[in-house]
Amino acid sequence: MAKHPDVAIVGGGIIGLTCAYFLARAGLTVSVYDRGELGKEASWAGAGIIPPGNPSGAATPIDRLRAIGSMQFQGFSEELREITGIDNGYLRCGGIEFLGHDEDDRAVLDIWTREGIAFEKLPADGLAAYEPAVKEAPGEAYLLPECAQVRNPRHLQALIAACGRMGVGLFPNSPVEMITPDFKNPRLDFCRLPGSRTVNAGRILVAAGPWSNALITPPHQPGPGIHPVRGQIVLLKSPERLITRVLMHGKRYLVPRMDGRVLIGSTEEPEALFEKANTADAVADLLDFATRMVPVFASAELERCWSGLRPGTPDGLPFIGRVPGWDNIFVATGHFRAGVQLSIGTAQAIAELFTGKPTCVPLETFAVGRKPVPGVQPAFRS
Ligand SMILES: Cc1cc2nc3c(=O)[nH]c(=O)nc-3n(C[C@H](O)[C@H](O)[C@H](O)COP(=O)(O)OP(=O)(O)OC[C@H]3O[C@@H](n4cnc5c(N)ncnc54)[C@H](O)[C@@H]3O)c2cc1C
Repeated sequence: MAKHPDVAIVGGGIIGLTCAYFLARAGLTVSVYDRGELGKEASWAGAGIIPPGNPSGAATPIDRLRAIGSMQFQGFSEELREITGIDNGYLRCGGIEFLGHDEDDRAVLDIWTREGIAFEKLPADGLAAYEPAVKEAPGEAYLLPECAQVRNPRHLQALIAACGRMGVGLFPNSPVEMITPDFKNPRLDFCRLPGSRTVNAGRILVAAGPWSNALITPPHQPGPGIHPVRGQIVLLKSPERLITRVLMHGKRYLVPRMDGRVLIGSTEEPEALFEKANTADAVADLLDFATRMVPVFASAELERCWSGLRPGTPDGLPFIGRVPGWDNIFVATGHFRAGVQLSIGTAQAIAELFTGKPTCVPLETFAVGRKPVPGVQPAFRS
């Protein structure tokens, strides 16, 4: 491992680690620094839903970024398994999205149609043939056969092991305190670690999730507005698989695992700031959502609850690219509810940017310092 890597990455979540792997695969020397254990924040907490997508039909750069992930996740999972022996649990289990008749729900159908995503509206009496345990459909049921899921903790283990095999320097328990001691000098290329350790690197990539704002913002300035949005999750365990597809209704969803466990997600709580506790009313609300739709879950074991802090941005789009004012400091964060599905496209774009190639998506859309784009309608809201 190089003493001064080509790229030092701050943050070992799914975004930092996937970027590290792609950069190392492209021939660059890379080190990743995390203030805690690698991959134990939002990236660990997430549900791992990977909605379908078709890059050639995607109407917007964010849809294209998602679609790149949808198309490549299976192959990437196989690549990681070949290198590490770790199976990340990628499964094209299919999904059912329940939609109403309001403008947003109709817009979702338009986006799917334009993009060429495979879907089928199920007749009112047709749902039982697919998911017999669902007794109360919260809307019209649309089958999405290409919806997939991944087991986040396993995917992160595979990423960490694959990065290790590629020679990426991995430094857990290494909190980066400052990107540069002099914000007036845009070319400083080191970050300072505790104990006055410094690391020089050709480029620094900040992928520190909701903690990124302070790292790329001069003191007493607001920065680009990257902030935490708590999401709570409940895990149920039942002896048999009662549902087999991801069931989604707006921002709520049920994700069935192969072993009978089911994730119920998720809240959106920016007001909680950096507090990760679970709350009684959120857990009750999630359980109510699940047991109304699938009443038999009322007798399932409540195994665990947890939460994660998603990195939010003012307009809901991530920041990917150079930090204004610096030649060699970059950011990849703000993926909000979609960091898993957007991780591959983001890493591809960063690797292309750092190796002087045209990027797979226009990075102006994701530029730090852009005017927030109001009302971007995502094709998938959960
Ligand atoms: C409940 C929930 C469900 C979700 N479900 C899905 C889903 O189904 N599909 C999907 O695509 N997305 C989902 N997401 C969103 C996804 O999990 C996030 O968008 C993604 O994990 C963000 O990854 P990240 O690497 O940017 O951030 P993080 O995972 O937060 O990683 C950032 C890392 O930076 C480190 N760090 C912070 N500050 C410093 C510092 N100063 N020095 C060194 N290291 C530092 C942290 O310790 C952390 O490990 C969900 C999120 C939640 C909370």
